[in-house]
Amino acid sequence: NPAVRDRLRIAIQKSGRLSEPARALLASAGLSWRESRDRLFCYGESLPVDLLLVRDDDIPGLIADGVCDLGIVGRNVLAEQAGERSETGKPAVFREWRALGFGGCRLAVAVPDGWDWQGPQQLAGKRVATTYPNQLRAWLREQRVEADIVVLNGSVEIAPRLGQADAICDLVSSGATLAANQLKPVLDVMRSEAVLAGPVQPFGDVRAELADLLLRRMDGVLRIRD
Ligand code: ATP
Ligand code: ZN
Repeated sequence: NPAVRDRLRIAIQKSGRLSEPARALLASAGLSWRESRDRLFCYGESLPVDLLLVRDDDIPGLIADGVCDLGIVGRNVLAEQAGERSETGKPAVFREWRALGFGGCRLAVAVPDGWDWQGPQQLAGKRVATTYPNQLRAWLREQRVEADIVVLNGSVEIAPRLGQADAICDLVSSGATLAANQLKPVLDVMRSEAVLAGPVQPFGDVRAELADLLLRRMDGVLRIRD
């Protein structure tokens, strides 16, 4: 999107695990806002940096379409949508700019408690349910394992009990949800945390300076937190 703009627009999750920590990080970097009535926009007051409050899954696409300049989103979501673009021959337009140190989780393969786990080869010919088909496909390819990927949009952890799949590949933090469904995590496909996502191409206007300023301030905050 070549349109010249003089304000920077950052997409963050409207409500969910990443919304509060994302706002707290941006506030620590010196941003303050006035919120719109409909809770879609937060208009930047201290700097010309506005927030757009959306579903996390929409964030990479909003950057790709030039609707937003930057976004705070899980690496799992960013990598999944980058993988999808590359599988369908679309150019890479967004990438991870910074790891932000919150929202940590892992994308893990989990199998029924009763399985005697020997390694990835055990998934050969099995059905694996996931919301992250591109991540799973790439990992299976690396492992040289041929399995069927069952794409689900939610409640992946109940798929084995429903007989919909033999194993799953899902986000895990404590493992309590898996245990409640008689599953055990056996390996990690990726480690994730919240990241600042931005375009591959640099901004061609004042947004470049705004993004630089924001990055320097965020790096300062992240260094102190470490
Ligand atoms: P939205 O309504 O925005 O689509 P959501 O239900 O997809 O929300 P959340 O459950 O709030 O999203 O998770 C947002 C992100 O938090 C995940 O993409 C992931 O990066 C991170 N996360 C950290 N721990 C977990 C966990 N235990 N389960 C799921 N996501 C986690
Ligand atoms: Zn989501």
